[in-house]
Amino acid sequence: MKIGVIGAMDIEIASLVSLLGSHAEKTYAGMVFRKGMIGGTEVIIAKCGVGKVNAAVCAEIMCGFFCVDVLVNTGVAGSLDNSLDIGDIVVSRDAVQHDVDAVNFGYAYGEIPSSGMRYFVADEDIARKCMRALEDMGVAHWLGRIASGDQFVRTRERKAWIRETFAAHCCEMEGASIAQVAVLNKIPFVLVRAISDKADESVSESYDVFEEKAARHCAELIGRIVPMISWRE
Ligand code: SAH
Repeated sequence: MKIGVIGAMDIEIASLVSLLGSHAEKTYAGMVFRKGMIGGTEVIIAKCGVGKVNAAVCAEIMCGFFCVDVLVNTGVAGSLDNSLDIGDIVVSRDAVQHDVDAVNFGYAYGEIPSSGMRYFVADEDIARKCMRALEDMGVAHWLGRIASGDQFVRTRERKAWIRETFAAHCCEMEGASIAQVAVLNKIPFVLVRAISDKADESVSESYDVFEEKAARHCAELIGRIVPMISWRE
């Protein structure tokens, strides 16, 4: 079993990379892919950069060149639901692209025209393993819907619109495009995100303080979860 792990920023993968020890490196599309082992499981780790296009390119390279069996996305996110605190972890039940809008043709918000695709469902078994691992680690965690778009959500209005339109729990800028690539390639995926901000006007005060902490925390969790993903029950 080969697991592809994608983070948007260095800080989201740095502690994972340090778990790899000796590893091989290859560069595609300007992105460095590191191939090694974590806890006896083969992993390929890459930083994709911010946004859905970068994330999709990276995910497709993971599938097409590295033939990964599972895609995992780790990183930070803004909370849409005020019961989610900074530092809490959201594991994807599913994901949607909140910036997809072809409603004038009769599609729902988030629905990709002529595809029947709107909500990308994560692998239930892997999501359950992540939840169990988080439980054991004593980290506050939620199973929920992750909304992605090429926007840093930072106003109460946009936050409320995304929450009300999609019943989503957190927002970020990559996860749902990685999910779409996984679905197109027929491989399982899971997104695991640590809340770094409240996706409203308070972002400007709090974001920088929590980005690094939340990202590092999330990557450490993934380091523990990766070996569990490959366990057969
Ligand atoms: N600090 C970076 C930019 C980060 S952009 C720089 O200075 O270049 C925000 C990143 O965190 C994205 O990868 C996104 O997935 C996630 N994120 C965290 N909070 C978010 C929010 N409120 N809205 C959208 N994305 C968010």
